[in-house]
Amino acid sequence: MRIDSIELWEVPMRLRQPFQASTHAAEELRHVLVRACDGDLCGWGEVTTPTDPYYLGETTESAWHVLRDFLAPAVLGRPWRSIEELVALYAAVKDNTFARAGLEMAAWNLLAAARGCSLAALLGGTRDRVEAGVSIGMADREALLATVARHRDEGYRRVKVKIGPGADEAVLGPIRERFPDLPLMADANGAYDPAAAGDVARLDRFGLTMIEQPLPWDALLGHARLQAAIATPVCLDESIRTAAQAADAIELGACRVVNVKIGRVGGLLEARRVHDVCAARGVPAWVGGMHDYGVSRAACVALASLPGFTLPGDVSGSRKYFEEDVVEPEIEAVGGLIAVPASHGAHAVRESMVRRLATRRLRLTADGSEQSQ
Ligand code: MG
Repeated sequence: MRIDSIELWEVPMRLRQPFQASTHAAEELRHVLVRACDGDLCGWGEVTTPTDPYYLGETTESAWHVLRDFLAPAVLGRPWRSIEELVALYAAVKDNTFARAGLEMAAWNLLAAARGCSLAALLGGTRDRVEAGVSIGMADREALLATVARHRDEGYRRVKVKIGPGADEAVLGPIRERFPDLPLMADANGAYDPAAAGDVARLDRFGLTMIEQPLPWDALLGHARLQAAIATPVCLDESIRTAAQAADAIELGACRVVNVKIGRVGGLLEARRVHDVCAARGVPAWVGGMHDYGVSRAACVALASLPGFTLPGDVSGSRKYFEEDVVEPEIEAVGGLIAVPASHGAHAVRESMVRRLATRRLRLTADGSEQSQ
């Protein structure tokens, strides 16, 4: 394979409902769609970073910069035979995982197009359907209860809510009271102080399936101490940026579950390696989301078809978040399950919609030309 052109499209999309977590809020997203072509064959990828550096350090702007000035020049015109070889072309680029994942996703889809197979088949997926789960932002008590009830009735297999210090027992108590048997988990996005383990231990009584990222991203030892002190399984999100970190966290006892996000770990290849680390150690894992548009949402579904993703993830239908998604057909959850496409191109990008919405567009080619469109 040889990528001879890369297009970047910044595409704003409004969420149907504003989203609030302990660290960040969002009403409108600005993901960058990446199209990589080898002659007439093309593949799409998506950069799912939030616009602001409050989840991790990247922003839409930083991803655009790294893609334009470092990643695209590193791969354009250079031959590669596998994703491992493609990734090696830009191995000098550290961090910037969302930017790397966007380009890499386009290359995976390009490779799937060249081989005429589905992304799931290329990854080694074994399931034809994956279990869907939802993540619900912070809201007032009645709104939250109504949202939980709606998603439960839609058949979602687990519900995740956002919590933080001062907004935990008051959030979880009413939900547990109303839905005593609901598989429920909570995500703190690193909001608790490592010294305040007692605050987290008090949440054991709600019988959560897990608590996600209670402490800051760099508190690996803190998570190990916390996990030893509480009954609820700790799941790590922001702390795990590589497969090596996943192996360290598991060995330290810092978590009993791992959330794998394509953008957070730098792409599908590393996501599969994290999956493999977890599977080899018997640690359950699931696929997390970043309010993905359809391009990345479809990649999440393909990833979730790997056998070691034994728990329902954040992957839900497109309509939960958007009035209209950028792919046709949209991702649909039926009875809490999402079908894994068996063929390449099952979710085609609505190019006219993307063209209409895009606020900037750049085309880079192997001969070094750069064209704003
Ligand atoms: Mg999380």
